[in-house]
Amino acid sequence: MQSVGVLALQGSFSEHLTKLAQLTEVLPVAVKTAADLEQVDRLILPGGESTAISRLLQRTGLSELLKRRVKEGLPVWGTCAGLILLAKNIVGEQPHLGVMDITVRRNAYGSQLDSFSCRQLLPALGAEPLPLVFIRAPWIERVGEQTEILGEYAGHIIAARQGKLLATSFHPELTDSDAVYRYFLQL
Ligand code: GLN
Repeated sequence: MQSVGVLALQGSFSEHLTKLAQLTEVLPVAVKTAADLEQVDRLILPGGESTAISRLLQRTGLSELLKRRVKEGLPVWGTCAGLILLAKNIVGEQPHLGVMDITVRRNAYGSQLDSFSCRQLLPALGAEPLPLVFIRAPWIERVGEQTEILGEYAGHIIAARQGKLLATSFHPELTDSDAVYRYFLQL
């Protein structure tokens, strides 16, 4: 049984915890403190507001610990705001954790497409078309040499992996698919 943490400071963490509870061989853990973060085998950074989550990471002292655990090889999956937290580069802004070699654009789809959903086959993540939910989503403008592109939608990168770091600009916790969870759990 592996313990899978979800950073539970702000955003859609309870939806991730509910999805994890439906998977076998997984112990879901709401991560709020350093002690929580020390004990998990994997971590999900949820969607929400990246600036707010970043501020809370600083205030709780979790930011430095999380960077250390990433360096030590902790598998981390960032969804939407979580992807923004992982990125080394954010267009027009300072990075937060800055651990993944990607350049992201926040709120990339603009106000007219603030939120939308669709289905798209992303072969790297599963054999069936995936339901994709975008909520004021970022996209990835550039990936580094060590980063593998896992999916694109309408000409923009929406999923990528660098070693044990996974980033998706969409919200699998709001769908009935567990394909991306399965992918993350075998990283
Ligand atoms: N727009 C948010 C941000 O920039 C991310 C939105 C989300 O996580 N659904 O932080």
